[in-house]
Amino acid sequence: MQRDDKGFVLAGSALDGKVDWRLDRPRYLLETSVPVVFVAGDVRSGSVKRVGAAVGEGAMVVQFIHNHLRGV
Ligand SMILES: Cc1cc2nc3c(=O)[nH]c(=O)nc-3n(C[C@H](O)[C@H](O)[C@H](O)COP(=O)(O)OP(=O)(O)OC[C@H]3O[C@@H](n4cnc5c(N)ncnc54)[C@H](O)[C@@H]3O)c2cc1C
Repeated sequence: MQRDDKGFVLAGSALDGKVDWRLDRPRYLLETSVPVVFVAGDVRSGSVKRVGAAVGEGAMVVQFIHNHLRGV
């Protein structure tokens, strides 16, 4: 899994041009360099380090997983 120079996990557009992508769909916003593995909260590179943000990102990840399972 790709991380930044401080060890935080890279996701979404932060990975553009850095890693190959083997799925037919684009990488989701909070999807890591490992397809269908997501990141939320403080551990994500560039996160704002607030409780509300971590909770919101977690909720977004649930939606992304549903989308992935539906094939959209
Ligand atoms: C002193 C302090 C004050 C803060 N005050 C505020 C505030 O007033 N308002 C606000 O919005 N935010 C505040 N924050 C930030 C807020 O706490 C974080 O943004 C929020 O907790 C992030 O949630 P998270 O789930 O991403 O990470 P965390 O809450 O850090 O949860 C990560 C969890 O993963 C566990 N873990 C780690 N490694 C592993 C592993 N290998 N296997 C299994 N589990 C593991 C940890 O034990 C932890 O329980 C504060 C932070 C600190 C340190």
